[in-house]
Amino acid sequence: MLDNQYDVVVIGAGPGGSVTARNLAREGHKVLLLEKREKIGYPVRCGEASTKLSDLQTYGPIDDSCIESIINGLYIYGPDGVNIELPQPGTGIMLDREKFDPWLAKLAADDGAEVVTAARAEFVSEVEGSGKDGFRTVRVVLGKGNGDGSVTETSTQEIRAKMVVAADGVESRIGRMVGLDCLQKPSGTCTGIDIQVDGMLTRPDYLTFWQGHDFINDGYIWSFPKQKSNVTKFGAGFLIPPKAGPSIYEVTMEWLDKLFPGAKINKVVGGVIPVSSILKEYSLDRFALVGDAAHHTNPLTGGGIAAAMRAGRFCAQTVHEGLTATSGDAANLSKNFMKLYEKRCYDYFGKMHDFENKFRKFLLHIDKPTQVGLYKVLQGFALSGCKKRSFLKTPVQSAKYLYKFMKFKG
Ligand code: FAD
Repeated sequence: MLDNQYDVVVIGAGPGGSVTARNLAREGHKVLLLEKREKIGYPVRCGEASTKLSDLQTYGPIDDSCIESIINGLYIYGPDGVNIELPQPGTGIMLDREKFDPWLAKLAADDGAEVVTAARAEFVSEVEGSGKDGFRTVRVVLGKGNGDGSVTETSTQEIRAKMVVAADGVESRIGRMVGLDCLQKPSGTCTGIDIQVDGMLTRPDYLTFWQGHDFINDGYIWSFPKQKSNVTKFGAGFLIPPKAGPSIYEVTMEWLDKLFPGAKINKVVGGVIPVSSILKEYSLDRFALVGDAAHHTNPLTGGGIAAAMRAGRFCAQTVHEGLTATSGDAANLSKNFMKLYEKRCYDYFGKMHDFENKFRKFLLHIDKPTQVGLYKVLQGFALSGCKKRSFLKTPVQSAKYLYKFMKFKG
């Protein structure tokens, strides 16, 4: 049985939700974190690669048990054999999300949040009451895990919250319910297949990609090594699912067979990733979206763990400021006040995501000779140790691609 009133109800215990809940609980607010699944973090639908450790740290280091490998560089197989190597010590990490997601939720619980699994938010009301006394009602369907990942739902409870945060992942059902336009549009949705394979397929401390006209032009193929578990996450993301011919699953399997014949598969999952860049609006009075729900995912790489966590911190910071304000828009946690949260996200990663979204579309749009030329320029940049002056070695080509990119409307 839950209490009937909370300061904040956070829906979804992925990285975004757990960080939001933790940061608010640390400030002394009464927080409820709901997760519909029986087990937080399971099953994993993710390549589990992330940016550098410091991006993921909220307070203190990440538990070593959650880290599979430290990533020291990227290798990109491009069109016509123009490959790019980017050595960068500590540029990323490979996570074990079956451990990482529950660990984040436990941090939230240790800091005072009430974390409840097998608890599905079914309904969120409009704002009731007025001014500082306003609230939303959340209807929660409570259940019992059956030990196999399934949940038997047993009861329903309505609770009041001064603020509701939905970190409920792609397509946010809750976000759409309260009237936000967070539906995935086909042109901004990447469908990914992730295959866990035994052993190290590629260099163990690098993330390896295949991109461009010789591979999957409207997406990319990846190989991410999990060193501790001695498995590789091999996968592919597609922007435009084939209308006819082999399915996305079949195409991914064909590439695995072509690149690594005989690879021993032990798990296959699929899922969708928002790659349309950050939503223009994702807050309302006493309501906000966090993470995939707000399309916080990086539109070029499809990575969303770090951005969801960063957004969780900004959301918590803003909501805390509202909950401790004594009057006005802030104290009412109004849509207008919550724009501050959107601005914090936009300034930190949204602007860069808009740029990367344009670059992704540009890569998709150009023909093979142009793509090969662009890869050569980028290869020179990588070989120079990412010095901007490397572009001066190929001034005509660099200027040509820059001009084409600037003119490209996206
Ligand atoms: P999620 O992690 O999706 O968490 C949402 C949670 O909300 C879930 O636990 C869900 O069960 C719960 N929930 C939903 N509805 C309700 C409800 N009504 N009530 C209660 N709980 C609810 N990102 C990377 O950074 N690196 C990668 O390598 C990578 N690879 C990927 C590969 C694939 C195939 C896919 C599909 C995605 C990949 N991503 C990757 C994206 C990454 O998984 C997401 O960006 C990240 O998980 C977003 O975190 P989140 O907290 O916003 O949402």
